[in-house]
Amino acid sequence: MPIHLLPEEVAARIAAGEVVERPASVVKELVENSLDAGATRVEVETRGGGRELIRVRDNGVGIPAAEVELAFRRHATSKLESAADLETIATLGFRGEALASIASVSRVTCLTRHTTEDAGTRLRIEGGEVAARTTVGRPRGTELLIEDLFYNVPARRKFLQSERTERSHIDAFLTRYAIAYPHVAFSLVHDGREILATSGNGNPQEALLNVYGMDLGTSLLEIPEMLNAEQTIHVSGFVGPTSVHRANRGYITLFVNGRWVQDLRLTYAIIQAYHTLLPVKRFPVAFVSVTLPVEDVDVNVHPAKTEVRFRDGDAVFRAVQRAVRATVMHEAPIASPWEAPSPAPDGDAAPSDMATRARLAALTPTARQIALPPAETPLTETPWHGAPASVSTPGASPAVDVDLESQPPRGGPVPATSPATSALPPLRVIGQAATMFIIAEGPDGIYLIDQHAAHERILYEALLTAWMQGQLAAQPLLEPVTVSLPVAEAAHLEELLPALLMLGMEVEPFGAGTFLVRAMPAQLAHLAPGDLLADIAAGDEQSPIHTALEEIIVRRICKRAAIKAGQVLSREEMERLVHNLERTANPRTCPHGRPTIVQIGVEQLIRQFGRS
Ligand code: ADP
Ligand code: MG
Repeated sequence: MPIHLLPEEVAARIAAGEVVERPASVVKELVENSLDAGATRVEVETRGGGRELIRVRDNGVGIPAAEVELAFRRHATSKLESAADLETIATLGFRGEALASIASVSRVTCLTRHTTEDAGTRLRIEGGEVAARTTVGRPRGTELLIEDLFYNVPARRKFLQSERTERSHIDAFLTRYAIAYPHVAFSLVHDGREILATSGNGNPQEALLNVYGMDLGTSLLEIPEMLNAEQTIHVSGFVGPTSVHRANRGYITLFVNGRWVQDLRLTYAIIQAYHTLLPVKRFPVAFVSVTLPVEDVDVNVHPAKTEVRFRDGDAVFRAVQRAVRATVMHEAPIASPWEAPSPAPDGDAAPSDMATRARLAALTPTARQIALPPAETPLTETPWHGAPASVSTPGASPAVDVDLESQPPRGGPVPATSPATSALPPLRVIGQAATMFIIAEGPDGIYLIDQHAAHERILYEALLTAWMQGQLAAQPLLEPVTVSLPVAEAAHLEELLPALLMLGMEVEPFGAGTFLVRAMPAQLAHLAPGDLLADIAAGDEQSPIHTALEEIIVRRICKRAAIKAGQVLSREEMERLVHNLERTANPRTCPHGRPTIVQIGVEQLIRQFGRS
């Protein structure tokens, strides 16, 4: 519909309030407009944390030449006509206020061409007044340039935080939308530096990695498609495995009908879904998107449109809790290739309808996991940074032997947070298959153990414990070893040197991508320093969500140090491996969040053989 002024009585019913609080609110309103305009490409650029300049360019339908001025009037919108329309809002915007508000506190240039017109329009507005208008040639779509935000509202300008803080608000907003709209190509540039670029290929992975970092991003589990019994509430998204948890709820993101919202109850539904699976006072990582009929949700609650009200809040709560629980439970118990996830202890969190069960059953954990390398697994409540590290105590005898024998000491800091549900049953080793898996028998059937993943888990906990107990001591090498790395990796490694030192690795830059390895902890002495450093330098995750560097490095070390697929193991070695796995705090996943063990239940076998 054309842009028009809302009738008085409709305007009066709209949740009113100031929407332009800070640069990020400008970005939010403009990007939402772009998405409402059907854009498949949205480019955001800022200078000076958004105070100097915010530019949002899209390839949406554009604004008809005759309506451009109108778009900047208060209560002018093309998205809403009558009060009744307020009940069924399907667009992100509807108040017709954003452009007017923004234009009143900045200098705006609007460049736009509607898809049905040949010529575009350039409109310049200063402090809310039209300053210039010309006809221009330009591609379809809209570009808004917001300069000198709050230039005429000194009080507001004074309250802006540092450029860095303002930028991070923008980052947080845009990265979330990039995950929620994987079919839209987003880019974000601050002061000429590209922060985010997604291709819009429909795969949310790029954006996930961008938001959560390589490690965490790749460990997330995808919520399998799931509808409630009435088929009206659709829950999708990604949740962390139980091995990943955080100190606050800040890593829980919610979208409702394509809109980022803050909702305490739904946040609680997600936290509840992890009940007993996470250590106390720890919170999950989740990106959950709920889709439901527009008439079942009221978005006209809050001026910034970040709160919603549901017609049936309980049903949405249940749907979210059930979907998240089923996803997590599917991963948390020993993964079975054929069985649907076990029902939650309280009985109501499991998927209720048969179709869902069947769909879930068809998904193996690997298929559901985003298939990319390392992931992250904070193990302890104790912050890593505070952990003691003894550096340069040559000759100190290693208390933890990082080979097949190694095992985390019982009662050490690592097992402290282990949820009771993750313990393994006693297993009897039968043999090895495909030089990759250990076959074992347990109380309920057959267990397949991924030898590499299991060993990674064992090493990871052993190394973490050793480090936290100050036992990862640097031991000088007889001869320093020279290692050469490609430029990018060398630069990355250089940033990691202080963290490496904390882990007992003395590495010295020697110029032109070359490093001298002077000391290594005894536990890692059997690894070739060149390979190890190359592995450590290969990752380049710069996650906005903070993970201790040492932790990331330890995971990379484990990947390199663990026995590989293809390695033939003696019975004794297998038994030791299984035994040591049983003694870890989180035996069911490798440090990257992938399963270490898969179970085939006796009942399954009986069914498969048609004996029941
Ligand atoms: P609202 O989004 O609530 O309608 P706004 O003030 O944000 O109000 O925008 C006013 C109108 O301007 C919109 O209804 C839409 O018709 C038009 N508009 C704004 N931005 C764009 C854009 N990027 N592409 C196409 N049309 C736009
Ligand atoms: Mg809008």
